Amino acid sequence: MHSPTLLILAAILTALITSVLYAVWFFNKTIPGLRLWMLSFLFGSVFTVSLLVRDWIAEVFAVAISQGTISMAAYFCLLASRKYMGRQPVSHLYAVVGIGALISASVYFTVVQPHLGMRFLLAGLGAGICFLLTAFTLAKGELRRVPARYLLAMVVGLHGGFLLLRPLLFKLAAPTTVGGQMDLNLLSQFVVLEAIVAAVLLGFGALILANEFITNELRHLAEVDPLTNVFNRRAFLTLLDKAISSAERTQTLVPVLVMDLDHFKKVNDTWGHRAGDDALRHFVLLANRCLRNEDVLGRLGGEEFAIFLPNAGGGGAIAVAERLRALVEAQPLVTDQHPIHLTVSVGATLCADGDTADAALQRADEAMYLAKKRGRNRVEMLVKPAVPGMPVAITTA
Ligand code: GH3
Ligand code: MG
Ligand code: MG
Repeated sequence: MHSPTLLILAAILTALITSVLYAVWFFNKTIPGLRLWMLSFLFGSVFTVSLLVRDWIAEVFAVAISQGTISMAAYFCLLASRKYMGRQPVSHLYAVVGIGALISASVYFTVVQPHLGMRFLLAGLGAGICFLLTAFTLAKGELRRVPARYLLAMVVGLHGGFLLLRPLLFKLAAPTTVGGQMDLNLLSQFVVLEAIVAAVLLGFGALILANEFITNELRHLAEVDPLTNVFNRRAFLTLLDKAISSAERTQTLVPVLVMDLDHFKKVNDTWGHRAGDDALRHFVLLANRCLRNEDVLGRLGGEEFAIFLPNAGGGGAIAVAERLRALVEAQPLVTDQHPIHLTVSVGATLCADGDTADAALQRADEAMYLAKKRGRNRVEMLVKPAVPGMPVAITTA
């Protein structure tokens, strides 16, 4: 009862989307879930073809194939979204039992006790549920950062809801008169059209997710130091500039700390470069223990790190610096054979009015060198003088 022209269009579109997804997956196999999206569309293509050829094969086979393929298409859609979101894969046992039961029931209402209404209800049941579950899986994360996920969740959720409510529409348009028959034909064309639109949007959605993943990967590579997994110098300076601008608006000062591990060359020379790398990661672990959510840690280069602490104030920043210094001293890196003792020198400053991130970092660096000069394993603070000239040391700890 579906229009063959629309079905041919649907078959061509789903096959095209499958090919595009395959090509994207072939060139970037690291995108999570993309292979499963592609398989979902492959099942979708077989489903549309099964609708096209249903007049030429035994009805019972046609019903079983279309029920099986549409359910598998929706199930793979769910698997793809879970994989993309980093969720555990669901046990295939549920799918085998669920899809097996749906196919058996559809065959039963075709052969044993023919019932068009029940068959129709079953046709959209498995797929509708899987699409709704996909929508719930995807609709997670901060809307501003991942709008594509919410857009796709909306499309897939609406499609799932439509599949579940579809039998109701057909019941309402049931042919009681000659005019009623026309309603039913129109409705069935609308159903195929809706499926075509949903397939195209889902295809775009899968590609947009792939794009979201690649963009995030590139951003991560550009902003994050691979050894310690904290911001690199450039990203840190950009974030500090932003923090200074917003602090100027609220008339607050942003404290900045620069930290340099003491005699680090000796760690490398004594225990090897790999132990040195472990020590850098160990230091980051300890630093993160002293920070709040809004504090930002970056690696400026080598064994030099920096932190800015919005809303901490000068006293708070010194307290954090002192806590970190004491923690690094108290917690050596424990390796297989020996503990590696570390200490750190910390320079602190406050970003004053008119400071750039570069200028603030330079002053904190000077404070750090002062700490080195005064014996290492200590905290020093320099603030911008009221009149231009040499920075003023106000605190030592
Ligand atoms: P000071 O107390 O004056 O800071 O002395 P230091 O030995 O820490 O400073 P120096 O600048 O002489 O040496 C820094 C060392 O840090 C030299 C370099 O090999 C090491 N280093 C820099 N980056 C890395 C890294 O990524 N991994 C390892 N293992 N070592 C690094
Ligand atoms: Mg050093
Ligand atoms: Mg150094």
